[in-house]
Amino acid sequence: MSLLEISDLEAGYETGQVLFGVDLAVEENEVVSLLGRNGAGKTTTMHAIVGADVPRVLGGSMTFDGQDLRARRNYEISGLGLSLVPEGRRCFRDLTVEENLRLAANHATDPLSVEEMLDQFPELEEMRDRPSKNMSGGEQQMLAIARSLVTNPELILLDEPCEGLAPYIVRRIESIIEDINAERDVSVLLVEQNVAVAMAVAERHYILDEGEIVTEVSTAELREDEALRQEYLGV
Ligand code: ATP
Repeated sequence: MSLLEISDLEAGYETGQVLFGVDLAVEENEVVSLLGRNGAGKTTTMHAIVGADVPRVLGGSMTFDGQDLRARRNYEISGLGLSLVPEGRRCFRDLTVEENLRLAANHATDPLSVEEMLDQFPELEEMRDRPSKNMSGGEQQMLAIARSLVTNPELILLDEPCEGLAPYIVRRIESIIEDINAERDVSVLLVEQNVAVAMAVAERHYILDEGEIVTEVSTAELREDEALRQEYLGV
């Protein structure tokens, strides 16, 4: 059994169905990417997994560590060891770095220590008393990842962590993803528009198009298959 198993997932909004039978799996200690053009349904998939109020799940099954995700509410799902870092970071703007981390830790069942997080992210340690609204996009992204990591998850869902970031910060985010996987045994499901980032950090890739998984490929296959990248990812 896989750590995360999504089978035949159908989901959408009041305006219409977006996902049409999505199948995907993430194994323990694995980094997997979910790729696709704008509007393919990547964020919808992530939100459906964590039980966000929108979108509505219409059919299919989702299990994490063998537990039925569809039977649980959003706040219960984080307690299972699954954590979403949403697109756009969404840190609490008026809270400092340390306060953002403490708040996340206080809501977790078995958190790591905030000091351990600040040790792992020296950039954040330097600005621990700064409100997150006064941080750069890259620094906020690190805080968003640290806030997720402090809850001690087995799987992190990362939604477009590199969106809008300068190349040197993108490299730093890549190394953070590699570290949390290698050193902390955390699995990652990564949504990215930046295919190079996905190929740098993930071993397997699902390609989503118009709400359906069209194929699953290894990094080597994705690198070699220019036609596939052109058709579904536009690169
Ligand atoms: P992007 O890379 O642009 O974020 P995506 O692959 O993550 O794209 P989704 O955000 O999942 O795509 O959107 C899939 C479809 O669902 C799109 O047609 C989008 O307009 C629609 N959609 C997304 N959020 C909502 C919402 N809250 N209400 C209605 N429709 C929505």
